[in-house]
Amino acid sequence: MRCVRCGSEAFSKAGLDHQDRQVYQCAACRRRQTARSVSAFCGYRFPDDVIALAVRWYLRFRLPYADITELLAERGVHVDASTVFDWVQRFTPLYSASPRSIRTRRARIASVSVSGGLSTRPLSGWPAIGSMPTGLSTSTAR
Ligand SMILES: [Zn+2]
Repeated sequence: MRCVRCGSEAFSKAGLDHQDRQVYQCAACRRRQTARSVSAFCGYRFPDDVIALAVRWYLRFRLPYADITELLAERGVHVDASTVFDWVQRFTPLYSASPRSIRTRRARIASVSVSGGLSTRPLSGWPAIGSMPTGLSTSTAR
């Protein structure tokens, strides 16, 4: 982790924030930050997984914002449709900047299934469902 103010990599632990995330204090400038401070999701109240999932649902399935809020509410995440709109406006350019790796991965999986036939073992190189960035973890309901 690197300090967002001075670039130093020397940190000490400085307690937890209100969402129980570890807070670190820079040894050089004494600025306090979490691991999320350098993330694109910094400043957003909802967990990264929830935001990523809502944006993915919008982009992949073209669901209306009201339907996305309903799907999230079924999973214990209560969010307004205008908030989902804000997420889509903010994160769509970031997703569209990196589609190549996803397309390449899908093509690799398709070629494996065509040449290898049916297989019950998981494909190597493919992330487990729980580790996928768009998955909704159980720790998101607060
Ligand atoms: Zn610093």
